[in-house]
Amino acid sequence: MKIHLIRTENVDFSLLQEVVELLSHFNGSMTYHLSLHDLSFKYNHCVYQSLESLSDLHAKRVMSYSLNDEKESRSKYSLSIPSFPLRRKRKEDMNDLFINHKLYRNLYDVGDNELVILLTDIANPLNWFSYGDCNNNAYIYTDEWEYYIASERKYPLAYQVVSNVLQLLMFDNDKEMMSKVHHKSVGCINDFCEDKREIEMKMKMTDICLKCQEILRLKNVNPSIISQSIETMFGIRSKMLSVEMFKSSRRDSRVAFCEKGNPVLMDLDNNKVKLTPLERTLYHFFIRNQEGVKQIQLADYKDELKSLYLEFSGQANLANITNSINMLIDVQENSFQEKLSKIRRKFQDVLGDDGGYKKYVIIKYEDERYAIKIDRSLISEYNFCV
Ligand SMILES: [Zn+2]
Repeated sequence: MKIHLIRTENVDFSLLQEVVELLSHFNGSMTYHLSLHDLSFKYNHCVYQSLESLSDLHAKRVMSYSLNDEKESRSKYSLSIPSFPLRRKRKEDMNDLFINHKLYRNLYDVGDNELVILLTDIANPLNWFSYGDCNNNAYIYTDEWEYYIASERKYPLAYQVVSNVLQLLMFDNDKEMMSKVHHKSVGCINDFCEDKREIEMKMKMTDICLKCQEILRLKNVNPSIISQSIETMFGIRSKMLSVEMFKSSRRDSRVAFCEKGNPVLMDLDNNKVKLTPLERTLYHFFIRNQEGVKQIQLADYKDELKSLYLEFSGQANLANITNSINMLIDVQENSFQEKLSKIRRKFQDVLGDDGGYKKYVIIKYEDERYAIKIDRSLISEYNFCV
């Protein structure tokens, strides 16, 4: 069964890639197709909804809740407190969210039995995490996950993809779904999670209760899809938990490099930090020059930087290579500082911004040297000899 993942224009393509990469670890009859198509709700404007308090995020049907409890309960689980979004993009009508599924289906001639799942930063009027229609289409909201799960967004999003696939196969319409989902959480994939914070519990329990197993049987859902879904959800859960436990242990991760030279954090579910060729050039330069180098001295290492860039850029045009490296070592240009901050941001995305990332990035010391702090014994099999 083919599952198409599509996105609206403000959702990073790389986020979809990460979700598909995670889902594709688990083989079976479900296959995931990543659409390059970028949907833009052009003729169908969004409204902006203002949020006045954190509890507005969980607003729908949260009975009583004070802001103080919020801070306390979140700080136990999360490594850093995310900034509070004041506004969110919203659709007034739930059905509007499915207009683009139809367009995509027509444009790419998608079969009726194939599933189309939209990942979007446009919220829905019901304040749900996700929602499926009765035509094999589902919608998943990509934002605000940091308020519920102290992990990268790819984990809950991949989990949502699989649980929506099962729900699309289990229920013929909204009415049936709403009558069968569990309004009081039991740790089943069909928990409704009226209080949105219960989603974390649902993901960690990852169970299909006996009642829901019976529905799957009655609806003749292909057993291989059920087993692949269960395996996927358990796999996501265990990856997410091992990353969480590793982060809270405050230990340092071992680092390897993929064949392209991107750093891979081995103890964090082999998370890859995707750098551009010039960023990789700088990163490897500082991995090799452990003692550090002052910015003003970079020109002395021009040949080494050039050969690294030649290796990582894959381009043969020496004039372009020389030009980029000249910009990088020129203290009047901001190319060097710009690359450092981009590398820092990419490590922060993986490790959170509570300071743990600092050992892995290029830091400036008081004596003006730049260096990467990471204990070199944590770097395994370094085989980039240029
Ligand atoms: Zn159930």
